[in-house]
Amino acid sequence: MEIIHSIEKLQQILNRNERGNRTVGLVPTMGFLHEGHLALAEQAKEQNDTVVMSIFVNPAQFGPGEDFESYPRDTERDAKLAESAGVDYLFIPSVEEMYPTDGGIRILPGPQATALCGASRPGHFDGVLKVVLKLFNIVDPDRSYFGMKDAQQLAIIETFVRDFNLRTTIVRVPTVREEDGLAKSSRNVNLSEMERNEAPAIRQALELGAKLFAEGISAKEIETRVAAYITENSSGTIDYVSMLTYPELTKYEPSSKEAILACAVKFEKTRLIDNIIL
Ligand code: AMP
Repeated sequence: MEIIHSIEKLQQILNRNERGNRTVGLVPTMGFLHEGHLALAEQAKEQNDTVVMSIFVNPAQFGPGEDFESYPRDTERDAKLAESAGVDYLFIPSVEEMYPTDGGIRILPGPQATALCGASRPGHFDGVLKVVLKLFNIVDPDRSYFGMKDAQQLAIIETFVRDFNLRTTIVRVPTVREEDGLAKSSRNVNLSEMERNEAPAIRQALELGAKLFAEGISAKEIETRVAAYITENSSGTIDYVSMLTYPELTKYEPSSKEAILACAVKFEKTRLIDNIIL
């Protein structure tokens, strides 16, 4: 595995004219790798000749007062884990390398970004699309791997690729969980011991929601009972619990095909998200 910091160097290596029929899979991450990230890399390895993983804590997707500074980082450990998962090129650009200038051009996501995390993190998905487009242009991946843990992000990126004819295929990867059901997340290390013990309540609440859905309970009632379960079983405060269509992220109607039940819960230092597809 080769570690690369320079955009120009990576572009040279991955130049379409030279790579011939060899396919490239891209796994964008913010690092502090865990088994969720590694599942993306392993799937990319199975489906492509070359795997590129990026590690970049993207300042453009953090709002004022969010956890950009305290976001966990450990590049040495990440490099070992990435190599073990079969990554060929680990791209770790600095902020100056990615954003040397800012001409003020913004990519504005559509209505999918007004719900869920988009409502509580204004501008977050603008920053996500900005970095994702840059990564697509730098790597020119045949396939790009994203986790269902960030289901709203995935849905918005799929729309972006479809509507703007971006030349990559988005691959959805299921959420990898701890044994107690908590979705793996780099942010889990910022939970106190007590919060870590309580956090599986999020998954339990979503499973309760899925059970209520199977019983024909209304979306509104499901949202209320899922939120109540989380509040009763943890010290976290609810940012949102919301049942919407997926991947459109519009109001759920009984005639809708696929639905998502998603939530965000704030603990003292960190905010966790999770979802279940119904
Ligand atoms: P992050 O480093 O948190 O920005 O995540 C990078 C990529 O890994 C995103 O596509 C996430 O959706 C995905 N990811 C993060 N956690 C998990 C998980 N527990 N299971 C599957 N994919 C994940």
